[in-house]
Amino acid sequence: MKKKTVATIWCEGCSGCHMSFLDMDEKLLDLIKKGMTFSASPLTDLKIPPHGTDIGIIEGSVATDTQEEEVKMMRERCKIIVAIGNCAVFGGIPTMRNKYKVSEILSRAYENAETNYNSHIPSAEDISKLLEKVKPVDKVIKVDYYIPGCPPKPEAIYETLLKIIEGEKPELKGKLLSYD
Ligand code: SF4
Repeated sequence: MKKKTVATIWCEGCSGCHMSFLDMDEKLLDLIKKGMTFSASPLTDLKIPPHGTDIGIIEGSVATDTQEEEVKMMRERCKIIVAIGNCAVFGGIPTMRNKYKVSEILSRAYENAETNYNSHIPSAEDISKLLEKVKPVDKVIKVDYYIPGCPPKPEAIYETLLKIIEGEKPELKGKLLSYD
């Protein structure tokens, strides 16, 4: 049986979607028995190989220039992209900052927070830059499948991956499709 490799990343998210991924529990082992293997994930710190990953799973919205580069890299390196969780699918909670300017947000966080004393906005070449607007993943790259929910149900993640591994088109219905 040919293995299906999976790479996962998280962008502007809380890691709750990855927790839901792990909450598949023994069904994760079932997927591994059916041919799934990992090429990379934030949990393993393995790096995404340049080619050949079958399924790329993205948690979180796109809020920084670094995240924008990362999702583009996922698209280049993975045959199928799955956006998991409301942040990746719709933008989610991180988009609450979209009604403010980036300069206002940074000033509030670093210069005018009640808990900060004599602080300043950090700036350096290697610090990611906030984008003007937080975006769902499909505003940056093409997404093949979506698993909404905050976090998505482990059963929905399982069903989606199972179908992809079996070479079928996943389609979430009924209780598997949640938005809360
Ligand atoms: S969808 Fe919910 S659980 Fe997933 S990253 Fe966003 S806030 Fe966290």
